[in-house]
Amino acid sequence: MEKEMIDFIHKALPLPNIEERKNVVCVLPHPDDGEIGAGGTVAKLKSKGATVRYVLVTDGGAGIRGKSREETKKIRKKEQETAASILGIDEIRWLNYPDGGEYELKNVRENLSEIFNDIKPDLIITVDPFLPYESHPDHKICGLATIQTLLFDYHNPSVPIAFFFTAYPNQFICVEKQWDKKFESIFSHKSQIGPEIAEIFKKYFETKGNIYGRKIGCKYAEGFKVLIPLMLHAFEETLWI
Ligand SMILES: [Zn+2]
Repeated sequence: MEKEMIDFIHKALPLPNIEERKNVVCVLPHPDDGEIGAGGTVAKLKSKGATVRYVLVTDGGAGIRGKSREETKKIRKKEQETAASILGIDEIRWLNYPDGGEYELKNVRENLSEIFNDIKPDLIITVDPFLPYESHPDHKICGLATIQTLLFDYHNPSVPIAFFFTAYPNQFICVEKQWDKKFESIFSHKSQIGPEIAEIFKKYFETKGNIYGRKIGCKYAEGFKVLIPLMLHAFEETLWI
């Protein structure tokens, strides 16, 4: 993509700084995704006085091998509640779709439409459904349903969407002060991150956090692809913005 075009878009359609938003909804496929992808930023938004709500699309019931769905759901919901309370999340709404993609995007969209029009968020955070090689149906449905709700059911063209688990971050949030809290919240998902993978897991995110941090002169940062609704339909430059 020509730099001239991208420069023009950045000037004509400046992207908002997501740190300044005050009424945030995070739409999440599973318990643990929010903490792993955006835990530091969420904690920072809270410290700056924002209200932050989680919407959990699935019940997490497929997440523990060797345990029944019923048992798994209970464990993971409890872990999610603990993690959310560490970050200071104001509310969790569970849509309770079965973990594993056996449900319809349009139903999720209906639920999200009601929630967005009720809460009237000024920032929406979710997973990037266009992450190359992303194959998990829950992640694809969650990201796409959120985008479609924003585009077609929640008529507010100034509300940005920030994607985590993205290969194309365009905004970096310094979370060095929130870094320990982020990992405390991640590690409260004990059924998902046992001690055998905790170390490599932490190193992976520290390396990434350092790389993103260097871009903005900070020790650790999280990266997001931030877009305004206009850029989510028939907009050829979105990948390069
Ligand atoms: Zn997930």
